[in-house]
Amino acid sequence: MFNTLAIALATTATAWPLLSSRQDQGSAAVFNCSHDFALTYDDGRPYIYGNELTDYFSNAGHLYTRFINGNNWRCIYDEDMVQSIQYSHSKGHLIGSHGWSHASFNDITREQLDSEIEQVDEALMKIIGVTTKYVRPPYGSCDAGCVDYLQNTKGKTVVQWSDDSGDSAGASSDQVINSIQKWANDGAPHLVLDHEVHQSSVETVVPAIMPFFDGRVLTTVAQCIDDASYLQTGSLGVRDETWTCSDKPTIKATPGSNPDASGGY
Ligand SMILES: [Zn+2]
Repeated sequence: MFNTLAIALATTATAWPLLSSRQDQGSAAVFNCSHDFALTYDDGRPYIYGNELTDYFSNAGHLYTRFINGNNWRCIYDEDMVQSIQYSHSKGHLIGSHGWSHASFNDITREQLDSEIEQVDEALMKIIGVTTKYVRPPYGSCDAGCVDYLQNTKGKTVVQWSDDSGDSAGASSDQVINSIQKWANDGAPHLVLDHEVHQSSVETVVPAIMPFFDGRVLTTVAQCIDDASYLQTGSLGVRDETWTCSDKPTIKATPGSNPDASGGY
């Protein structure tokens, strides 16, 4: 069963969500907002849909959270990626990390995990002058030891989700819209997983769901858990020869691909 799942994951797009058992993930990970409603978008492919997404939210007076990869669909240092991230940040939306290469954190060594985190940190400091506080593990793959490690060594807060829109698992736009409408109307806090790589998630779903939130404001993850947006803010950099993905390691680990890694490191 597990091997079958791993093979299936290895052959599908890297946006596939897989949430580990919540019991395995300790108390430090965030699974929901304390109040309000936050929409989060993973896998950053901003050169296509990112600016549209930012405009939909900004024009409606809402905020959202983007969890950005370093080198997954695109290289974070490509100029259109840089401009898209800067644009979202300038409008007040929260930028978090989704790891450098979309590797499953439970299936890589701690040394590789350091690399996945630090390379995105370095890039976001250069691009928008911040060190991000929030990490969304690819596939939701980050057990209690991983959560503690990221907290203790990097000061990071691991952010999972309370509700999956289902967009990367094949849900139709209508299904996603209906789910979000139901959550919007139940009065409870929600932290929702979406993916900005899907055209319909951005261009069909987002305009349709905005009216569900009339009279209230969608928040960033930081706002809905009453925490800081970033670990530190500094001054952004100027493009030089280090703004490249070509010399940085990319790790293609999917869930279950290295079952020895999570326990041994
Ligand atoms: Zn992802």
